[in-house]
Amino acid sequence: MARKTVLKLAAVDRQYGQGEQVLSILKNADFELRAGEIVALVAPSGTGKSTLLHLAGLLEHPDGGEIYINGEACGGLPDDRRTAIRRGDIGFVYQFHHLLPEFSALENIMMPQLISGLSRKEAKERAAQLLDYMRIGHRADHRPAELSGGEQQRVAIARAVANAPLILLADEPTGNLDPETASYVFDALEALVRQSGLAALIATHNHELAGRMDRRVTIEGGKIREF
Ligand code: ADP
Ligand code: MG
Repeated sequence: MARKTVLKLAAVDRQYGQGEQVLSILKNADFELRAGEIVALVAPSGTGKSTLLHLAGLLEHPDGGEIYINGEACGGLPDDRRTAIRRGDIGFVYQFHHLLPEFSALENIMMPQLISGLSRKEAKERAAQLLDYMRIGHRADHRPAELSGGEQQRVAIARAVANAPLILLADEPTGNLDPETASYVFDALEALVRQSGLAALIATHNHELAGRMDRRVTIEGGKIREF
């Protein structure tokens, strides 16, 4: 069954600098991400993985081409609409967790839901469920500093999907974890994606994890290609 395309980059250009010193990162790049799939983005440092994720997450504008989220062309949209799409349809995970230090794991996951208008009860129920999916239900009341690196990243992933986005964008989410912990965190992420039908694009240098994803893409000569 053909799955719906939730993210599409069409002929996207992105460059930095001006005049003689133009650094072309993406050149006429195409990419599609479909509901329910997990795609690895594997490319050397400095090739544009973060740039691609920022463009896909509407945090940056391309210099050419178009980005579609769930079929909607986003280039010409006003900023408030882009922000609404970013909040509602896209979840981000970074290499470092960026959890709020003064709040518990549970509260960190409740936060985005409270901001988007859910009641405390609803937000708490969903946060607890997500912690269970990430296999850290027993750590709900701990603050980030009391959690291990792997636990912190699992909370960050749960927070990223708290508002049930369509797309999860992760920038080297296991980059500062040891291989065994990275594998465990990925197991939990995969279980979450499988049960929710989310689509995920995950930048990683870990070839073992990349091998477990549905597809692998790289950035080469400004193009995004499968390998
Ligand atoms: P990766 O995540 O694959 O390591 P990035 O997307 O961070 O790569 O960066 C790609 C290239 O673009 C790098 O050479 C980086 O120095 C450059 N770059 C990234 N952001 C900017 C910026 N805001 N201004 C100028 N150059 C940038
Ligand atoms: Mg990067």
